[in-house]
Amino acid sequence: MHVLITGGAGFIGSHLAEYHLARNDQVHVVDNLNTGSYDNIKPLLDNVAFRFDEADIVTWSGLDKAVGWADRIYHMAAVVGVKKVLADPVSVMATNIAGCERVMRAMHQGRWNPQLIVASSSEVYGFNDNPGFDENDAVVFHSGSRLRWCYAVTKLADESFGYAYAQKYGLNIVIARLFNTIGPRQIGRYGMVVPSFVKQAVNGHPVTVYGDGTQTRSFCDVRDTVRALDLLAATPAAKGEIVNVGNDQEIAIKDLARLVADRAKSASPIQFISYGEAYGVEFEDVSHRRPILTKLRALTGFEPKWTLVDSIDDLISRERSVGVPVNEMITG
Ligand code: UDP
Repeated sequence: MHVLITGGAGFIGSHLAEYHLARNDQVHVVDNLNTGSYDNIKPLLDNVAFRFDEADIVTWSGLDKAVGWADRIYHMAAVVGVKKVLADPVSVMATNIAGCERVMRAMHQGRWNPQLIVASSSEVYGFNDNPGFDENDAVVFHSGSRLRWCYAVTKLADESFGYAYAQKYGLNIVIARLFNTIGPRQIGRYGMVVPSFVKQAVNGHPVTVYGDGTQTRSFCDVRDTVRALDLLAATPAAKGEIVNVGNDQEIAIKDLARLVADRAKSASPIQFISYGEAYGVEFEDVSHRRPILTKLRALTGFEPKWTLVDSIDDLISRERSVGVPVNEMITG
């Protein structure tokens, strides 16, 4: 199979690349290396089945050809991460919406119909305060919006484009609403909680919980995520559907801080800091974010294999071995 991955040098994208190469597929990655990183794909460059183009999805001249070549496309290219979104909202809006539409337009205009998986996000549920989110739940935003929500708006736009192209032109599109994903190669620089906590605990620094830590999240290991995405793409009944992808085990952030410190056998104290201090601006957090996975399970039979403790233990041991060559770290 020919697999095109936009944003394939990013965290989830690079795991998709690795996953498909291990299945003897041909993989073409395009990434502008803005939030993605060359190190994520360096170990793949020697593989003759792998090709990399450093380019921006919004302007890449090779897009039409690559779309025509592909049997499957994962559209992962996006500007992501709360801190990045707050710092650079214009590029979030421009890249995330225009890039996604461009991929669909290339499919439609070239009369190609590969399987397209569009990466959406649990952010689209906004302030909905249900204990778990179902794909038909209401999207709740305050109308006097703040910058933080521009990311969710871009993902909703991508979903609507996907839905429109699937309905109007019969394109084979599945929208995956990705919930919090964790695993090797995720970086804490843009605010993601688990890599930040692991780094802090392993290095004996205070583990920084934002707010009172009662907010909850559900974390899915990226190696489960890529399996779910592969299953969805290969499921004809998923065509034109919006589907939650994640793990439904939930944990409060203050308990997560304790758990990471305990698993690392770290003496790091837990430090509570305000959102204002953490993000530099006033910030409204989402109190709960847990996927209801009934639809994903019914369509694909997917079950996550990685427990949170297993993922954390794996990340701790990788953090401890920082300094070994990257290609030795990217295993299993
Ligand atoms: N968070 C935290 N300490 C950190 C980074 C994040 O307490 O060093 C909190 C953050 O406020 C949020 C949760 O952890 O409540 C998850 O944050 P992340 O940015 O990873 O994901 P998202 O908020 O997009 O679900």
